[in-house]
Amino acid sequence: MKKIDLGAQYIAAHLAMFRCPVCEAPYTKIEVHTLVCPNGHTLDLNKKGSATFLKHNVETEYDTPMLASRRKMLTAGLFAPIVHAVAKQLPETPQRILDVGTGEGTPLAQLDERRQCDEDVLIGFDLSKAGINLATQLVSKAFFCVADLAQLPFNDHVFDVVMEFFSPSAYREFERVCRPGGQVIKVVPNANYLIELRHALYDQTAPQYQYANDRVVELFAEHYPNMTQTKVRYDFPIGGEWIKDMMAMTPLSWGSDEPHRSQLLREPVESVTVDVSVLTATLPKR
Ligand SMILES: [Zn+2]
Repeated sequence: MKKIDLGAQYIAAHLAMFRCPVCEAPYTKIEVHTLVCPNGHTLDLNKKGSATFLKHNVETEYDTPMLASRRKMLTAGLFAPIVHAVAKQLPETPQRILDVGTGEGTPLAQLDERRQCDEDVLIGFDLSKAGINLATQLVSKAFFCVADLAQLPFNDHVFDVVMEFFSPSAYREFERVCRPGGQVIKVVPNANYLIELRHALYDQTAPQYQYANDRVVELFAEHYPNMTQTKVRYDFPIGGEWIKDMMAMTPLSWGSDEPHRSQLLREPVESVTVDVSVLTATLPKR
């Protein structure tokens, strides 16, 4: 079956989850490869079996080379222990999971692989079209689409889990699309996340030399007083082989200067520290 037909089949099977990005009315039909809302707004699926649920086109900084490096590092397992930690927070029963800011999609595909649950409904979205194009190449039952965090193209309370890896949050939208009693999961870097790169790429006086997540964790706790925090920390060996991709994949290197970057390429760090918190909250049942 062609990818566009698979995409149309997927949306048809889960039509009740989607809504029109223009007028916010729930979709009521899909005609071949075109979603049609009750007010007549149409949205075409593309050849990759994906769709762009945006009112206006948006440019992002996440270009294809950066995402390709990210794909390489994540396929090599850079975030695998984080995916494992997130998987442990989820019930074993079938879940409808939304991955916010899915990027090139590997963490969601790895979560799918780990859960091995045929009845899971997995949807990943990102503002980056380049990211979603890469995501649609993954072998996974997850559906990937372009959408805006602030205006999610999903109906109210249609997900059991809303999760995000290193993405900004829009709590009001999360609570709208997640069902009462569902889970919100947020992965945030801790102070030592990629500290070797941080220290190699910046002088001690630069603001990027240090990082603290206190404010982000506090904000999550203000929204969800019942939240739990699970810390995950490990070393990931990179050496000479991976350093270029490692530098390309992280926004951390964007602000550093050429002398720091070439110095790090000449003398790569042996490994990087991955240090994150998995914040988990259960929404009130109401
Ligand atoms: Zn509409």
